[in-house]
Amino acid sequence: MGTIAIDGPAGAGKSTIARILAKKLGYKYIDSGAIYRAITLLAIEQGVEAEDEIGLNRIANNIKIEFSPPDQNGINRVILNKVDVTDKLRGGIIDKNVSRIARVKGVRDALLIIQRRLAEDNNIVMDGRDIGSRVLPDAELKLYITASIEERAQRRFTELKEKDIDVDYEDIKSEIYKRDKLDKERKISPLVKAEDAFLLDTTDMSINEVLAKIIEIKKK
Ligand code: C5P
Repeated sequence: MGTIAIDGPAGAGKSTIARILAKKLGYKYIDSGAIYRAITLLAIEQGVEAEDEIGLNRIANNIKIEFSPPDQNGINRVILNKVDVTDKLRGGIIDKNVSRIARVKGVRDALLIIQRRLAEDNNIVMDGRDIGSRVLPDAELKLYITASIEERAQRRFTELKEKDIDVDYEDIKSEIYKRDKLDKERKISPLVKAEDAFLLDTTDMSINEVLAKIIEIKKK
């Protein structure tokens, strides 16, 4: 079984890289951030606050999550409790709340089991914050993908502008900064580069250059 773990801060292009890499290698892509986002969506819908650990634990221990094979646009649909929620997981309110929910111990413990189960029996590429350091410590290849905060904010800004979404560059930058800070400073499985992960700073690299580099690293 092959497993590739990709970690890094928000907006570094992990999911784009992971998706293309999975397709190239014939592996399945699992977006672990989408699971934290799905819990955040349920918490918001049910009025459960980020401080309500019991309520969040209940949600995390009862979710059923599946990832579909890529659709015609190459996107793996996220099926939460039998409902396709893919289009609800990205965006302001989820971005603002997800890292506060992701620091709750019961949520992380429940997700650890879910993520490991999703990784069974498959060749997979999984991306997130603690995949190489905690979820899949024995992964065949670990990558830590990053870029300067200005570059990450600019990429997100361009992506949203292309979708005709009205956004402010400084707001995006500050949102990314806050999320990274919470992810790096939390007590349980913070965002960290696993010791044996390859560091890829993609600030001045195109997606094709990043992919070529990863294939080169994988062959070694
Ligand atoms: O990768 P994405 O930006 O979708 O992740 C959303 C949030 O989920 C992260 O900012 C982080 O708070 C949380 N997360 C996490 N551990 C992971 C994946 C995501 O804490 N393995």
